[in-house]
Amino acid sequence: MSESPILLTPGPLTTAPGTRGAMMRDWGSRDPAFIALTAELRQRLLAVAGGEGSHVAVPLQGSGTFIVEAAIATLLGPGDKLLVLINGAYGERMVTIAQRMGRAVEAIRWPEERAVEPERVAEALRADRSITHVALVHCETTTGILNPLREVAAVVAGEGRAFLLDAMSSFGALELDLRTTPVTAVLASSNKCLEGVPGLGFALIQPAALERAAGNSPSLSFDLHAQWKGFEKDGQWRFTPPVQVVAALVEALRGLEAEGGPQARRRRYQENFDTLLAGMRRLGFSLFLDEAVQAPIIATFRMPADGRLVFRDFYDALADRGFLIYPGKLTQAESFRIGCIGALDRRDFERLLEAIEGTLATSQAA
Ligand SMILES: *Cc1c(COP(=O)(O)O)cnc(C)c1O
Repeated sequence: MSESPILLTPGPLTTAPGTRGAMMRDWGSRDPAFIALTAELRQRLLAVAGGEGSHVAVPLQGSGTFIVEAAIATLLGPGDKLLVLINGAYGERMVTIAQRMGRAVEAIRWPEERAVEPERVAEALRADRSITHVALVHCETTTGILNPLREVAAVVAGEGRAFLLDAMSSFGALELDLRTTPVTAVLASSNKCLEGVPGLGFALIQPAALERAAGNSPSLSFDLHAQWKGFEKDGQWRFTPPVQVVAALVEALRGLEAEGGPQARRRRYQENFDTLLAGMRRLGFSLFLDEAVQAPIIATFRMPADGRLVFRDFYDALADRGFLIYPGKLTQAESFRIGCIGALDRRDFERLLEAIEGTLATSQAA
């Protein structure tokens, strides 16, 4: 078996050996040992965001999109209306999901390089009383932009609406304190800043919102109320759980605590990002976003305008050297992305920069 590549992606990403090692056994899904593991998972997920006492953790099998779909299906009733705040592809995806679920939905859109503006959200909520829920993407992974969570949450709470937060690429690293930031439902997954393996999404939800949502979901599998009631009844999953994924995520959450929690993780990611940005600038690349709105999660770089670099060749050359980068997802400009998250530190980024420099030297010589 060849060695794992270094993943410089927004997930799945490079995991710690202990996290991968936690998957090397079998678990009976209805056995007390796995029920205890599930309880530890749910408790640790709440603790990451200070949600003990105010929220409940509801994990769901699948990728991150599955939990977003389940939250929209469950929390919005037929008479409700969702307002999605969009500055990238993941906001657009929420609109698509709401439409598929037959829920009323509207959007406010900003250019991909601009953060969501809380004042415009306040205006929209005052102008349309039929909006019952507002959805925001905390870090829009399309570009790596950070949206103003606290300000938007305050506006939504002030206007008395429910607030759904896609914290997929921020949960576990960027600041989120449910004791001081009012959020009805936080949505995230196992394989981003928590550094678990893919296969699990989860929601941290206010129990009153879940109680009100009984019977809303047009989907059986994507019913978070029923999923929650299952856990509350006997600590078990309704349907086959991804047992190894759960074991890996619990191990990864123990690792997060040992590292010093989300603040320490953010510092490591920031150091990764700073190392990357300084090196890339030295090599002549420019960052797509203004640094003032950039989160230390994933960096979008513009393709050099001279056309000398072709993404596919660049990708292949770096892959040969053991590094997997990520294509761009911008609608407006040629770009590529480099993730700063995962079980990686500054030294990995120094090695990456050497590999990029070597790649460029070879392609220029050709
Ligand atoms: C990764 C991600 C998702 C979910 O994507 P999946 O591919 O379904 O895991 C949703 N929102 C954001 C902001 C993301 O970064």
